[in-house]
Amino acid sequence: MKNNNPICLYCNKPSEKVTGREVYPHRRDLYNKIFYRCVPCGAYVGCHPGTDRPLGRLANAELRKAKSEAHSLFDPLWKSGQLSRGSAYHWLQKQLGISQKECHIGMFSLELCQKAIEACKKRNQEHLTTGSILTGGPLVTPGLTESLCCQDNLTHIVI
Ligand SMILES: [Zn+2]
Repeated sequence: MKNNNPICLYCNKPSEKVTGREVYPHRRDLYNKIFYRCVPCGAYVGCHPGTDRPLGRLANAELRKAKSEAHSLFDPLWKSGQLSRGSAYHWLQKQLGISQKECHIGMFSLELCQKAIEACKKRNQEHLTTGSILTGGPLVTPGLTESLCCQDNLTHIVI
């Protein structure tokens, strides 16, 4: 039997294919989404929309928390209008030494999340100490919606 389910990198065993019903019982809107999960590790990952291709690695609670924290520190950089969304992602790429293609917080390893968190904290501190609130980039268009805040919406749901 061919099994395309991704290996759980925490325990090196194949994950099981499930739907949102199992992963998010309280989210009826996710019931038709496909996830791969590893119950013993509490790890899971969503799929590219309309496919059963996993978005990336299975993430456990620790990694999900790190991704969530990275988003909560990074997103305000452009949501506040300090930088445009493109400039903010460009800045993050440079901080982490990664390519644009790799710059999706949803795909980050724990290490990359931690680097991103540190970089954002450092940046916030510099901005506070220099009081350079007016030297930020162009203002973000008001009314930019939540759905635009991540380059891949499903990642956001997974977090
Ligand atoms: Zn596992």
